[in-house]
Amino acid sequence: MDFNFSPQQRLIRKLAREFAEKEVEPIAADVDKTGKFPRETFEKMVKAGFTGVCTPVEYGGSGGSDIEKVILVSEIARKCAATAGILSIHTIFASVILKFGTEEQKKKYLPKVGKGGCLGAFALTEPNAGSDAGNARTTAIFDPKTNEYVLNGTKCFISGGSQADYLLIFALTQPEKKLKGLSCIIVEKGMKGFSVGRVEDKMGIHGSETAELIFEGCRVPKENLVGKEGKGFNIAMTALDGARIGVAAQALGIAQGAIDLSVKYMHERVQFGKPIAALQGLQWYIADMATKTEAAKWLVYYAAFLDANNMPHTKEAAMAKLNASENARFVTNLALQIHGGYGYMKDYPLERMYRDAKITEIYEGTSEIHKVVISRAVLGR
Ligand SMILES: Cc1cc2nc3c(=O)[nH]c(=O)nc-3n(C[C@H](O)[C@H](O)[C@H](O)COP(=O)(O)OP(=O)(O)OC[C@H]3O[C@@H](n4cnc5c(N)ncnc54)[C@H](O)[C@@H]3O)c2cc1C
Repeated sequence: MDFNFSPQQRLIRKLAREFAEKEVEPIAADVDKTGKFPRETFEKMVKAGFTGVCTPVEYGGSGGSDIEKVILVSEIARKCAATAGILSIHTIFASVILKFGTEEQKKKYLPKVGKGGCLGAFALTEPNAGSDAGNARTTAIFDPKTNEYVLNGTKCFISGGSQADYLLIFALTQPEKKLKGLSCIIVEKGMKGFSVGRVEDKMGIHGSETAELIFEGCRVPKENLVGKEGKGFNIAMTALDGARIGVAAQALGIAQGAIDLSVKYMHERVQFGKPIAALQGLQWYIADMATKTEAAKWLVYYAAFLDANNMPHTKEAAMAKLNASENARFVTNLALQIHGGYGYMKDYPLERMYRDAKITEIYEGTSEIHKVVISRAVLGR
């Protein structure tokens, strides 16, 4: 067993930490306040090579595996969960093209989402198909006269949907087959018949715009089909295994950031003539926060290690996300408590982190769905 990062991974962590301190932290409160997608920061992440993580260098990426992705996402989430979420979700597009795309698709799209500055999105959810993703109603009917798929329907709650250049859309190519008729199709920004609807006003991760996508007779060339027709559900579930490790990394970073702030505050804040770090009640809070976060960290890295080594990791990714997201809620709650009334004020980042942490228990599958996945694996049912 080896619990150490390689020299290369330590360097990536150093770069990511410096990037987060210099480029992310100073604008995190403003991104939260305005709810504006941090385009400039995204472009800086492109330049730094972060957006190309997990994409091989020969396809225009930066290389690395899910372990490097966890390092990047968690370091950025320490300072801004929205920015970390943008990076994490962006990487899903490339991971799907890499695993299931044709050579032409890899050559066309991977350099663009790797270091080319284009943003990717993943659109599975619909108004009546959330946890029950197989209940999707969006259709993509093939027109043999033009060799195109014609998309009709609505996707909702899509992260980066209003900003993305390339979107993976899960739609029924054979509606009568339901789940087995679901396919994955690349839609490009600006395609006729595709428009962005409502952009949601939400509790947290404000900078990560969450949008409705509308398809009205949107014609997409046949070569934009990813994998085989009818394999969309498999593709989506495989993508979600990796995506869940990304959300777990986001949750891990939020928790670590809340601990950092709490430790600093406990040394600075004086009550009853001594720093509140001297109060045993709060010391025990810190002990619980640090212990649970350390445990969460190793589960996240274990899932990433399995993914990086092409080993099965559905159960471990679900466990990592379930545990890390519950921990992020637990830790941000105690961190806010440690900050007392100041923690409740918008002048301090804790109330933002407390709101941001909640999403990690909902997207890329809710905690309840993870328990379904885990219990199935454990019980062998
Ligand atoms: C901010 C945000 C960003 C998002 N980004 C994306 C994105 O980029 N792409 C995308 O495709 N989707 C995205 N989503 C959608 C997200 O993945 C879904 O919201 C989530 O999967 C839950 O679906 P739902 O909201 O329809 O809830 P429902 O499925 O209606 O669930 C309602 C409740 O029932 C519980 N439940 C449902 N089924 C079961 C079951 N079998 N057993 C036990 N409990 C169950 C749920 O856990 C939940 O508590 C995003 C959502 C949000 C809020």
